[in-house]
Amino acid sequence: MSTLEIKDLKVSIETDQGTKHILKGVDLTINEGEIHAVMGPNGSGKSTLAYTIAGHPRYNVEGGSITFDGQDVLAMSVDERARAGLFLAMQYPVEIPGVTVTNFLRTAKTAIDGEEPSIRHWGGTVKEAMGKLRMDPSFAARNVNEGFSGGEKKRHEILQLELLKPKFAILDETDSGLDVDALKIVSEGVNRAHQETGLGVLLITHYTRILRYITPDFVHVFVDGKVAEEGGPELAERLEDEGYDRYLVAQA
Ligand code: ADP
Ligand code: MG
Ligand code: MG
Repeated sequence: MSTLEIKDLKVSIETDQGTKHILKGVDLTINEGEIHAVMGPNGSGKSTLAYTIAGHPRYNVEGGSITFDGQDVLAMSVDERARAGLFLAMQYPVEIPGVTVTNFLRTAKTAIDGEEPSIRHWGGTVKEAMGKLRMDPSFAARNVNEGFSGGEKKRHEILQLELLKPKFAILDETDSGLDVDALKIVSEGVNRAHQETGLGVLLITHYTRILRYITPDFVHVFVDGKVAEEGGPELAERLEDEGYDRYLVAQA
């Protein structure tokens, strides 16, 4: 069984005002097949955790470790992380002029598998996966992220999940900017990957809305760069009723 283990992680960034300490000792272990929700108020460091797992150069690891089946993730390049089976949705957030969705996905698939998928079948494979996400077939020929709406970006993320078949996916605010129909389709995609391939999921979200469609096994509440509370799905329900006020009051 694969395990992603984060231990006492401390992360800072350099700003004009000096060093800003964001993550102040985060512990989190995700096993294959588990869905973990990381929730918390804005500014608590959720995205910083995602960027750090993704290897974004802006974020400096000052202490602690991230390991994947015992391998040191922090020592891996961004590509090595993807090849190891980590899916990081924010890895390619930019527009890629002149590269179509089909070709982008083919390049990503080749990089991760170490061999090219058959040219003859690739177009069909992409179309089939797009069909499951109820995406318009013309999407395959568009340039990556060029003029994508918020919803299209999210579906493109889930399309990558379907095709690249990672072991773990880190999804940051996948629910933001989606209407209810798109939210359902995206959630179905995550649930399908979870059921079919035992995908482990780190689902980062400020709101509880997506958790009506994706049931987490564990919920971790982030406050000021640390895990303030942990529990099962019932914790998400309590947050839906109560919000984050009590954590912020406790902190002040
Ligand atoms: P969350 O995703 O929980 O809203 P973030 O990880 O985005 O939180 O941010 C945590 C804190 O670090 C915030 O105070 C934010 O302003 C700051 N921060 C994060 N990334 C940057 C950055 N690239 N430049 C300046 N400040 C940042
Ligand atoms: Mg499950
Ligand atoms: Mg964020």
